[in-house]
Amino acid sequence: MEVLQELVESLVRCENAMSIVECQSYVAGRFSSTTDGIFESVNPASGDVVARCATCGDDHVNEALAAAGQAALELEKKTGVEIAGFLARISQEILELGTELIEVAGLETGLPVARLEGERGRTCGQIAQFAELLRDGSWCEATIDTAIVDREPVAKPDIRALFVPVGPVVVFGASNFPFAFGTAGGDTVSALAAGNPVIVKAHPSHPATNALFARALDRAVAAVGFPAGTISVLQGVGNRLGEMLVEHPLTKAVGFTGSLRGGRALMDIAARRAEPIPVFAEMGSVNPVFVLPDALKNRGAGIAAGMAQSLAMGGGQFCTSPGLLITLRDEGFASALAAQVAAAPTGVMLNHAMADTLCREVLALEKNPRVELMTGGSNPVSPITPNNSLFRIAATTLLESPELQEEMFGPVAILVECDDEAQLLIVAEALNGNLTASIHGDGFETELAQGLVHRLSRIVGRVVLNGFPTGVEVCPAMHHGGPYPASSAPATSSVGTSAITRFVRRVAFQDCPDELLPAALQQANPLQILRQVNGHFTTAAVVAP
Ligand code: NAP
Repeated sequence: MEVLQELVESLVRCENAMSIVECQSYVAGRFSSTTDGIFESVNPASGDVVARCATCGDDHVNEALAAAGQAALELEKKTGVEIAGFLARISQEILELGTELIEVAGLETGLPVARLEGERGRTCGQIAQFAELLRDGSWCEATIDTAIVDREPVAKPDIRALFVPVGPVVVFGASNFPFAFGTAGGDTVSALAAGNPVIVKAHPSHPATNALFARALDRAVAAVGFPAGTISVLQGVGNRLGEMLVEHPLTKAVGFTGSLRGGRALMDIAARRAEPIPVFAEMGSVNPVFVLPDALKNRGAGIAAGMAQSLAMGGGQFCTSPGLLITLRDEGFASALAAQVAAAPTGVMLNHAMADTLCREVLALEKNPRVELMTGGSNPVSPITPNNSLFRIAATTLLESPELQEEMFGPVAILVECDDEAQLLIVAEALNGNLTASIHGDGFETELAQGLVHRLSRIVGRVVLNGFPTGVEVCPAMHHGGPYPASSAPATSSVGTSAITRFVRRVAFQDCPDELLPAALQQANPLQILRQVNGHFTTAAVVAP
């Protein structure tokens, strides 16, 4: 009873304080408040409470998954063009949230208006790319191998395969991209594009922002007449809600962006299920940047400036933020880099928990006798605004201390100094899986440069030449993933249209009558899509022998 009263009071307070925002969950077509505990979002800059919300319980999880299971049966009958229309409507509804979305997200995340407007553009842009992919239709990789009835010693059957939706997908929204990887972000949209219903476990750092996206999604579902279970947005804090969603037997796949600890916990839960399911988790990355001797000598100052800018971008709260810079020992470069890092603008962390974690990590480095603090440190500008920090270690320290390869989320980097060129390669050899690696060089014809490119391409998802890892282009060729711990599934990407292939399964039909085949596999190619027929890509109809 007490909890209920607390909820009512808090909703009233919320209504008064922020009449524009409903901090509720969205469960299969209806907005719902729960009684399972209240949590708050806090303006990181001012410390003021922005919104209050209640955590969903198992009733909501069961309701959302049951409706999603039903919706899956209807969604798999939708054409690509119909789903493209739904996605386009989502984009329209997001834009119609207008400045309210920017203002509320700004309050909850501390991110500046320009960044949020840019991220909204990216979010709608990626939705448009998926809609285009669906209108084209070829993404399902229809592959046809026709029968050879007189093959010896046995006849070859007719086999036809394509990608189909996997079923209900649970998406964990990210804290650091409240739009592009949030409730209606890339994971949600790629799963919807594949024809799946989605249950979002919304990030608890920005519930009012999530509620606005839920409103846009609700309007889009209603506008196109899709089933209510197409999308649910469950709000809550504490690991139990996420655990229940991954454990639920109707969940067929998971998309996640966040910490290695959280992602790994969810991978383990998914693997322990009676029916294990895939978890596509994008987790920790330190994005090593190598500077080759020629570039160090010729343009070290410019590289130092670029590194500091990349490090400080967004307060260092990007999965692609450069956390290690590896080069030959050079006092002039080290001092120039420290000066640039010190001079770069500082930023507000997304929430106090993140700021506290970073402060602890920086303090631990300061206390490590093998690590030298060059600038910044654990004494922050304010509790929520960390210093831009640069530490320095010898390459041997990194080789002997694997924990120094762990992600520190924020504007903190370590300069790793090598004795000679051979040691640059030894360090590259010792690095864990990462999303990206960058190499600065003036010509890549040397054995060292080629060795580095080769080695790094084996341990990262993207190799950047003469650039920095921040600023991920959203395009079909982008690969944003990488070997563990950067991601749980290095063959897949969470950015770009190839992200759709995470949320499908493949099915083949053997000797199936034409009228029973999905349209994408029928003889006449009624969808006019590009297919692989007997080893050749073509849009032509299959000619009967
Ligand atoms: P997080 O703690 O991993 O949380 C992400 C989401 O997963 C939240 O919804 C969280 O909700 C849920 N979750 C976390 N652990 C869980 C568990 N054991 N079981 C079930 N659900 C779980 O990430 P974050 O809150 O965004 O940030 C924390 C740290 O993650 C950062 O300091 C940073 O180190 C890292 N991070 C990395 C990236 C990247 O792209 N590499 C991006 C963002 C953050 P509940 O807490 O409510 O369970």
